[in-house]
Amino acid sequence: MSRGSILFIDSVHPKLQEELQLRGFTCVDGYSGSKVQLMQEWNNHTGLVIRSRFKIDHDFLQAAKGLKFIARAGAGMENIDTDSAEKFGVVCLNAPEGNRNAVAEQALGMLLSMCNHLIRSDRQVRDGLWLREENRGTEIDGKTIGIIGFGNTGQAFARKLQGFDATILIYDPYVLVDTDKYPQIKQTGLDDLFDSCDMVSLHVPLTEETLHMADAAFFQSFKKPIRFINTSRGKVVDTAALVQAMETGHVIQCALDVIEYESVSFENLDSKQMPEPMQYLLNSDRALLTPHIAGWTYESHLKISEVLADKIIRLFA
Ligand code: NAD
Repeated sequence: MSRGSILFIDSVHPKLQEELQLRGFTCVDGYSGSKVQLMQEWNNHTGLVIRSRFKIDHDFLQAAKGLKFIARAGAGMENIDTDSAEKFGVVCLNAPEGNRNAVAEQALGMLLSMCNHLIRSDRQVRDGLWLREENRGTEIDGKTIGIIGFGNTGQAFARKLQGFDATILIYDPYVLVDTDKYPQIKQTGLDDLFDSCDMVSLHVPLTEETLHMADAAFFQSFKKPIRFINTSRGKVVDTAALVQAMETGHVIQCALDVIEYESVSFENLDSKQMPEPMQYLLNSDRALLTPHIAGWTYESHLKISEVLADKIIRLFA
């Protein structure tokens, strides 16, 4: 007898289905159904597996009779109404352990790439330009790097930076950094970060509090010009303010894996709106842009499914 049916509305690494089927769950393919169709045809599923195809809102949860859990194949939970889920007794699971290393490696890659002008100078060489002085690099050693948000990805990034002779400052008002575990790291307030940082990386979830956290006042508060990385969520950054800060020299370079104008599913940039700040970034050789791939590696693909399988199995243990 089936232990319950689990509706997959996004594709994930097959490991998750294999593990669940081994434990007696039935896995149901809901990849092509629209949100409305899936709500109308809801058939007492026990679980729902989603990446980011659409928002799981109050109405969806109300229609989802018998639902016990939602498993998000990723870290961010802003597309799930977790308050309503709690009211309906639905457990929300995510898998930040599965892609934190991937994000940390990309953030490090972005930092090194910016500091050494790798993308720009590569393009120039292909265009027949051999510009050495214009592409003189900046070293990470001796610099101060600010990490905002010290959860899964923030910690993983900090661990990668341990190999550099740099000062690492953490701002996260919701955690206490274990300085025995991280002797090279100092937890500070935002003011210290503003006073000392040369490089800053965002690792916060998108919440009401972090929406446009990096706004004009934020960028103008830095005493030194910074290199700025965002691998968290596009809407944490006010892109117009970032562009203004690039124009005034408060930001020397930026690297963005996530962009304010991405669609809800993260599958594309909203082609209907390509506002001026985005045009600026697209035309600037001081902006490094990637299509929401920081957590998107072969390894994280598998690890996310393993982590979710583990969490779901424990839920029913
Ligand atoms: P996490 O929940 O493990 O850590 C987030 C940390 O941010 C927590 O320690 C929390 O205390 C802190 N925080 C919350 N509000 C804050 C604030 N106002 N100021 C400072 N710190 C604050 O999440 P994570 O796994 O580190 O991921 C962070 C976010 O990155 C995710 O929510 C997701 O949106 C995004 N992400 C993106 C990718 C990608 O592919 N680009 C991959 C994974 C995660």
